[in-house]
Amino acid sequence: MTACLRAEAFAELAPLLERLAAFGAEERGGVTRLLYAQPWLDAQTFLAKRMRAAGLEARFDRVGNLYGRLPGSLPEAPIVLTGSHIDTVRSGGRYDGAYGVAAGLLALEGLKRTRGTPLRTLEVVSLCEEEGSRFPLAYWGSGHIAGVYRLEDGAGAVDSDGVPLAEAMAAAGFGRSEQPDCRRSDLGAYVELHIEQGIVLERTGHRLGLVEAIAGQKRFALTVTGASDHAGTTPMALRTDALAGVAEMAVALEARALAAGDPLVATVGRLEVRPNTPNVIPGEVRFTLDVRHHRDEKLERFCREALELFAAIASRRGLTLDAQAWLETEPAPMHSGLTALLDRICCGMNLPPLRMVSGAGHDAQLFATLCPTAMLFVPSKGGVSHSPEEYTSPENLADGAVALADCLYELAYREEWPL
Ligand SMILES: [Zn+2]
Repeated sequence: MTACLRAEAFAELAPLLERLAAFGAEERGGVTRLLYAQPWLDAQTFLAKRMRAAGLEARFDRVGNLYGRLPGSLPEAPIVLTGSHIDTVRSGGRYDGAYGVAAGLLALEGLKRTRGTPLRTLEVVSLCEEEGSRFPLAYWGSGHIAGVYRLEDGAGAVDSDGVPLAEAMAAAGFGRSEQPDCRRSDLGAYVELHIEQGIVLERTGHRLGLVEAIAGQKRFALTVTGASDHAGTTPMALRTDALAGVAEMAVALEARALAAGDPLVATVGRLEVRPNTPNVIPGEVRFTLDVRHHRDEKLERFCREALELFAAIASRRGLTLDAQAWLETEPAPMHSGLTALLDRICCGMNLPPLRMVSGAGHDAQLFATLCPTAMLFVPSKGGVSHSPEEYTSPENLADGAVALADCLYELAYREEWPL
């Protein structure tokens, strides 16, 4: 099998990512493009122009997802979609999200130039929001497409400056009833190309990673309460030190998670110690627990056992423990047929992919509820992501884009639907 577009077709990929990084560029090299902010709007407007220059029909939906469309000759056939998100975290990198959008755009442009009109319509989407960095709502773009969100769901959301989401959306020109509805029911497949944001591909020497499932996540907010006594006058045996209890919990959690093995991950990520004073025994600690696994029953069981373990530690130390479930996302298996197609394509390029579970959430998990969905990863240098240091080499960027273009070709240009 020879690739239908070669790496040279993606010579513009790295420069296009550079160009995109100029929108929201910061002095120290980071990129901040928050939903509906000016750099975000400028980047989406730039992409719409670039899509039109590529001969695609560009359109925005009601929340600001941007589509570029290459119409097929079978107008009733299901639509083949690729893309990713354009928003970033604060001081994020140049590749997370932007890579999938830029590669998708160039793939459609290259296919149009070399293969002409597809049978099935091809679209690339620049999703308006994935990270949840400005408002406490992640997947605002893909969530609308999947019908998980309605506009009303953003009603209570404000950013750190107190700006309501509805106001920010209106100022950017979105949220009007005459704009096209976001919901899609015409999709035949969604393929997302993304940087790994981890170090597994680099460590194992793989140039491509194929996501078998996106891990489900459970997060808890916990409070451990003891007594804030004098650090000088309270003998060790008479203390109920909340922080010492939480430290024991965190270490025990780490041991349990290591014993459970990959791909389970468990993290105590935030600690708030009260009163947080050098000469007072910590009387209260609030902390978070984040657990991820791609199998629902394993995730459930690990969380239940971890909370039981925390309760036993608290009780032995005379502390009280309160645990509130705070966030839950279901594991999202990727489509086996579409994943197998990508696997064949990667192997045909002599780049057998590593099958992996994505511990990070992605828009693809929302699309998985709508249509056959798959995700392809390229390495992130040093595993670094959500940082100005994020980097993927032009060669690695091209590998993923070539595989993506082949996959889109198989889906949109072949007489027979391959799934
Ligand atoms: Zn991303």
